[in-house]
Amino acid sequence: MNSLQCVLQAQRSLRWGPLAAVSWLLLRTCRAHCSLPSPASPSPERQENGVQKDFSSRLATGPTFQHFLRSASAPQEKPSSSEAEDPPPYLRKEELLGRQRKVYLETYGCQMNVNDTDIAWSILQKSGYLRTGNLQEADVILLVTCSIREKAEQTIWNRLHQLKTLKTKRLHSRAPLRIGILGCMAERLKEEIFNREKMVDLLAGPDAYRDLPRLLAVAESGQQAANVLLSLDETYADVLPVQMSPSATSAFVSIMRGCDNMCSYCIVPFTRGRERSRPVASILEEVRKLSDQGLKEVTLLGQNVNSFRDNSEVQFNNAVSTNLSRGFTTNYKTKQGGLRFSHLLDQVSQVDPEMRIRFTSPHPKDFPDEVLQLIQERDNICKQIHLPAQSGSSRVLEAMRRGYSREAYVELVHHLRESIPGVCLSSDFIAGFCGETEEDHQHTVSLLREVQYNTGFLFAYSMRQKTRAYHRLKDDVPEEVKLRRLEELITVFREEASKVNKISVGCTQLVLVEGLSKRSVTDLCGRNDGNLKVIFPDTEMEDGINPGLKVRAQPGDYVLVKPSSVHPLCGKETRLLASCSSIFSFCHFFWAAERRGCWLCAQQEEVWRSCLPLKEKT
Ligand code: SAM
Ligand code: SF4
Repeated sequence: MNSLQCVLQAQRSLRWGPLAAVSWLLLRTCRAHCSLPSPASPSPERQENGVQKDFSSRLATGPTFQHFLRSASAPQEKPSSSEAEDPPPYLRKEELLGRQRKVYLETYGCQMNVNDTDIAWSILQKSGYLRTGNLQEADVILLVTCSIREKAEQTIWNRLHQLKTLKTKRLHSRAPLRIGILGCMAERLKEEIFNREKMVDLLAGPDAYRDLPRLLAVAESGQQAANVLLSLDETYADVLPVQMSPSATSAFVSIMRGCDNMCSYCIVPFTRGRERSRPVASILEEVRKLSDQGLKEVTLLGQNVNSFRDNSEVQFNNAVSTNLSRGFTTNYKTKQGGLRFSHLLDQVSQVDPEMRIRFTSPHPKDFPDEVLQLIQERDNICKQIHLPAQSGSSRVLEAMRRGYSREAYVELVHHLRESIPGVCLSSDFIAGFCGETEEDHQHTVSLLREVQYNTGFLFAYSMRQKTRAYHRLKDDVPEEVKLRRLEELITVFREEASKVNKISVGCTQLVLVEGLSKRSVTDLCGRNDGNLKVIFPDTEMEDGINPGLKVRAQPGDYVLVKPSSVHPLCGKETRLLASCSSIFSFCHFFWAAERRGCWLCAQQEEVWRSCLPLKEKT
């Protein structure tokens, strides 16, 4: 009977064939795990007071049919914390509470993981956990993990080895240390993590963060706990992420999750599930709150952020088909209706004209003209577009199932540059994909030369299980060849980026101050519109509001600077650094209406001199 109940729950919440089966298997495995004595046995005190015995007997009784029916038919608006939820039958309500236990969260991977960390923390905070930045005093350590490449996972395995010593030391203390793996690696490897690292107490996939209080309650009793169910509708729309840094000037706002593209090399659709978008109203509410808190920049986040489609309002679910970038196709049946990215971008950019808007990571197929026009005409939408190409060879792009040819991609680049003069471009490339020949590689080199990106993220191909490439293609480029090609791509990228970024030397740039530079205490750092990191001296400068008054820039202020040089930074994810010898103005706001035309252009200087706060001008 219990098995049937579990199947019911897994099927209703997944409705995605193969994954449903895998997750169900894990559910069963975990229940089996739970009934076995754990390697990390609970402290003697706990056994004495009978908590453990009581818990095991309740766990053995298992959840009721009503419990599964309730969770299976849960509406999209979910309760924001465990406080609002009834505990499962094998736990008491108070066991879901953190009772001031201290959580240490460590984030690996992309910005989505940074945002997921804030979401996980928001859920735990509401349950009564405290956060600590000190590993030694933590009661719970949670690693928010990435699976995109083998190297990312190896980093986590190495970290778990280090944490083992810490956990062993604390094994017999009154409060044993609990260790959890969150995110993509939990989703991808599931019980393999429990098998390889017995010291791991809990696993939570990217759609299971609401379940963290329950998982931690189970882990607290000395059992291993896991929830790796993927959802069709989880967007954490009602969970307001809690940012840790009070001095932060910018924030990430997650607008969609998952991916339906199934590029042949990529694990993301398997670890993060199907594409789904958050309702526009909840995104706007979050952006308004961030603006009220004084934040000056939001980055809209999603695995394919510009594929956004809010289907939550019935009146917009019409049969209007989707406009794609010219020459691009999808790997899935064309979707229709819903509120699209251009609508959201329009709304978000109107919340606060003094707040910069960025978005990442987009897919090149979803740049219809209405999106480009909006970026061009809205002053506070940054003129910066990430346009992941992956390869410059049409043959490789086809094997990757990207849905475009090199020619279509190049045409899109030209169209972007015509539509948004001065736009900064960045891209992702993979070196050494299955079957990539020297000639294919040279096509990628020539694409880098042709496009001249401002920023780039370059990777050696890493074969991932479950993907189409794993099943159908051969990882036949030797490791040393992949690395050699990667080095070549990095070199060419840097040469071209240096050339193109030099255009900004001597030109006025509007920079949002982030704080002190890591390089020196006498310098500040910030980012320009193109997301280029800019380092400039922390000196007194003229106040844009009160001419003649000298002030020092603070995080969250906008300053006008003139870069004196550009330097490539080290590392494979290549960025450029601009140093500035002169700063000639300072203002709390930027007067967006003054901003016209190419803004790397030196002629803008006069415009910026008249920079005054919006409120005073209107
Ligand atoms: N959705 C975005 C797109 O497709 O345009 C990119 C998001 S993906 C999470 C980030 C980047 O990781 C990809 O653009 C790709 O360059 C890289 N990546 C993904 N799978 C990879 C693999 N198996 N090996 C190496 N790099 C990979
Ligand atoms: Fe991965 Fe392709 Fe989806 Fe990007 S679009 S997340 S590369 S499957």
